[in-house]
Amino acid sequence: MAPATLTFLGAAGTVTGSKFLLTLGDRRVLVDAGMYQGEKRWRTMNWADFPINPADIDDVVLTHAHMDHCGYLPKLVKDGFAGTVWATEGTAALAEIVLRDAGYLQERDAEHAEQHGYSKHKPVLPLYTEEDAQRALTHFRQVEYDTDVSLGGGVVCRWTRAGHILGSASVRVSTDHTAILFSGDIGRHDHPVLRPRSTPQGAPFVVVESTYGDREHPEPERAHEDFARAIRTTVAHGGQVLIPAFAVDRTEVVLQTIGEMQRDGRIPVVPIYVNSPMALNALRVYRDPAHRDELRPDLDVEELLGLPNVHETPDADSSRELMSLDGPAIIISSSGMATGGRVLHHLEEMLPDPQNTIILTGYQASGTRGRALEEGARELKLHGRYIPVNARIVRDAEFSVHADSTDLMDWLRDLEPAPETVFIVHGEEDAAAALHERIAQELGWTSAVARYGEVVVVEPRHATVHWHRRRVPPGSGQVS
Ligand SMILES: [Zn+2]
Repeated sequence: MAPATLTFLGAAGTVTGSKFLLTLGDRRVLVDAGMYQGEKRWRTMNWADFPINPADIDDVVLTHAHMDHCGYLPKLVKDGFAGTVWATEGTAALAEIVLRDAGYLQERDAEHAEQHGYSKHKPVLPLYTEEDAQRALTHFRQVEYDTDVSLGGGVVCRWTRAGHILGSASVRVSTDHTAILFSGDIGRHDHPVLRPRSTPQGAPFVVVESTYGDREHPEPERAHEDFARAIRTTVAHGGQVLIPAFAVDRTEVVLQTIGEMQRDGRIPVVPIYVNSPMALNALRVYRDPAHRDELRPDLDVEELLGLPNVHETPDADSSRELMSLDGPAIIISSSGMATGGRVLHHLEEMLPDPQNTIILTGYQASGTRGRALEEGARELKLHGRYIPVNARIVRDAEFSVHADSTDLMDWLRDLEPAPETVFIVHGEEDAAAALHERIAQELGWTSAVARYGEVVVVEPRHATVHWHRRRVPPGSGQVS
């Protein structure tokens, strides 16, 4: 039989577009079906033909519901994928929100570009519609954490809690001959809302993310002090604060933090507007008793969005009213990297005024508007126009839901047995290279930064017993 192979079809050389194709005997399993975001050279690949016929893929296995891990699914189904999409209950619930919203937004953006004439394409077509998204959702099948699930054809999968967003998991895919562990996105060792990650069983081949492979998250004496100061100063000057937040995993953490700060008197109490239908839907999933198990046992779920000064803006009319709002306020809107959604209208309105502040709360991928703001852009292109950036830009890395370099190393170090080879994905060049170096120095393991389109054989070189080899002491750089 042909050897088992792994092909890197995304998140190789970049952070987005996670897609890993496993050929195991005559079964083809795609781990994650993510959309490319950010730089145009990657984004255009969302439109290209998929490297293999989607009809030839038997299963899609999802690690979590972020767009860059599941956002390509509707396109895959539209192009012929007819198999099963396997995901945890939490991922299935959030993916429904994420994919429908993505389809809806793409339809609206295409219409808007068509009407205002700023697209090069005529007619302007969405990559997929809300109806395509709806169709993709009918392929989902829910799985439990820490339970072996047989996909058929001798392929078994197991999902282990990753502590990144609700439902997130690392997935171990195995057959009688081999096993490949996909980290998915790994959370920090301490998440304010979610239960912490658990340690998956090791495998001869490990695919690990490296988003923050070259960075450590700050652990300041006073949590989120930059955030609190920015709110205090802006409110004192009569300005408004805009927080672009990832709808499915950041809004609840931001609200929880604001609530705490209000109670402790660290910030003044001003109206807070959550202007993202997707974020409001995601909050309902977090508060759903069905997912109580995913949250920290000590968390007061009622307090999540229980603040009296929080206003929801579910429809377009209330959203428009918000644009001409007077006086200090905090507005939370998505998307988190300002790649689309209602936050664009707020930016257009708020960026020119130096009294306003924009607080970035997460990873800003290269090529996104969020990244441009983070890097000090003086103007930003929004809806076809250049808007001056006079508002203050503040970054709060403490809100990150990604493991930092040390968290990633800890996750790897705990794997039993230690792997034969580690493949590094989901990072920009410097981040991936830094993690590669740390793995060699501190663990003495063989690792490689995956390249787009690369195919590797994933059959253990030696009998199972060999990949049970012992771990080396940190820093020795030797394999025992
Ligand atoms: Zn993620």
